[in-house]
Amino acid sequence: MTDVFGDLVGQDEAVAMLRRAAASAAALLRAPVTAPAGGHDDLDALAEEYDGDPAPAPADPGAGMTHAWIFTGPPGSGRSVAARAFAAALECVHGTGCGTCPGCHTTLTGTHADVRLVVPEGLSIGVNEMRALVLRAASAPSSGRWQIVIIEDADRLTEAAGNALLKAIEEPPPRTVFLLCAPSTHPDDISVTIRSRCRVVPLRQPPPAAVAEVLVRRDGIAPDVAEWAAAAAQGHVGRARRLARDPEARQRRDAVLAVPRRLTGVGAAFDAASALIEAAEAEAAASVVEIDEAERTALQTALGAGGTGRGAAGAMRGAAGQLKDLEKRQKSRATRAQRDALDRALVDLAGFYRDALAMAWRAPVAPVHTDTASLASAGAQKWDAEGSLRRLEAVLECRAAIEANVKPRIAVEAMMLALWRG
Ligand SMILES: [Zn+2]
Repeated sequence: MTDVFGDLVGQDEAVAMLRRAAASAAALLRAPVTAPAGGHDDLDALAEEYDGDPAPAPADPGAGMTHAWIFTGPPGSGRSVAARAFAAALECVHGTGCGTCPGCHTTLTGTHADVRLVVPEGLSIGVNEMRALVLRAASAPSSGRWQIVIIEDADRLTEAAGNALLKAIEEPPPRTVFLLCAPSTHPDDISVTIRSRCRVVPLRQPPPAAVAEVLVRRDGIAPDVAEWAAAAAQGHVGRARRLARDPEARQRRDAVLAVPRRLTGVGAAFDAASALIEAAEAEAAASVVEIDEAERTALQTALGAGGTGRGAAGAMRGAAGQLKDLEKRQKSRATRAQRDALDRALVDLAGFYRDALAMAWRAPVAPVHTDTASLASAGAQKWDAEGSLRRLEAVLECRAAIEANVKPRIAVEAMMLALWRG
């Protein structure tokens, strides 16, 4: 039987750190409150008291609890999985993250009254959203344990939202815990001042064998499929699961990996660019269409579409504003979904050229894409290491350009031409 940390693949060190913190947090809740209530020194004072306790207290002072954490690691390493698991351990009635008690269960299913999850859908998290969140997080926990705010993709906070969050982290309510997730602690991802007040939980890219193991154990996927998917997903657990289970995801990947073969001239390069962009757009549109429609209907119902008489004109103006806001949010989310879909395609493509490079060097490493290994091998012979490396770099440059806000079509066309020319 696995507990709440069972889904954290290949992260033994981080899990050990979080287990120690959860134990410290549970001890804090059991400890008699001697510090004046209400001040943010409460937690620190209790932590000191706890650290001074010679009984089963861990020797490492870093093992204690703190009120702000940042989970960092490459995409797919399980940042949000780790944050949720830790939240469950904090809300666990046994204080361990048993995985079965009501505290664990409601946290993991997203229904715990004291755990708030912020998942940015657009390109950034705004200041109003953050202020409302901070305000609600300041109330006393209904369970008597912790108020927890999980912020996924904290790197997408706007500057103003970051400042609102910083204030809360600087003067935290006694029982409030902030769990942030970000790719890294680089200042581009998280402000230095927020970083300085958080404890960092670094996650690593899980090895394919660990990813395959969890797909077999938890999802009941056949071992050979799990191994293939884990390698193809390059350490991204969620992506590996999708590839193993979703035929459409596999088809999209096949289409991307057919690109190197299709690049036979300038026209073909432009065609391949169009195909890649349109596939990303279609994938993104399919992923947001249902929720967009549901939101629009809900808003129209809330606004009571129609209506006449005095005040109706004013109400209509207000309604138009809200609809406009909703459309803006939806557009931002669609853009994000397109970029994510395109980035997944580029990561697959980079994997192909990385395989070619490894083969040209005769490096003793397993290929990323076992199913296109012979094609990559042919490429390696034709292009040599240098040509393979140039192509790999073209893909990575395209990713960087899109991240830096170059129009995706332009970046992808430039990449396809570079891949064709070599
Ligand atoms: Zn539990």
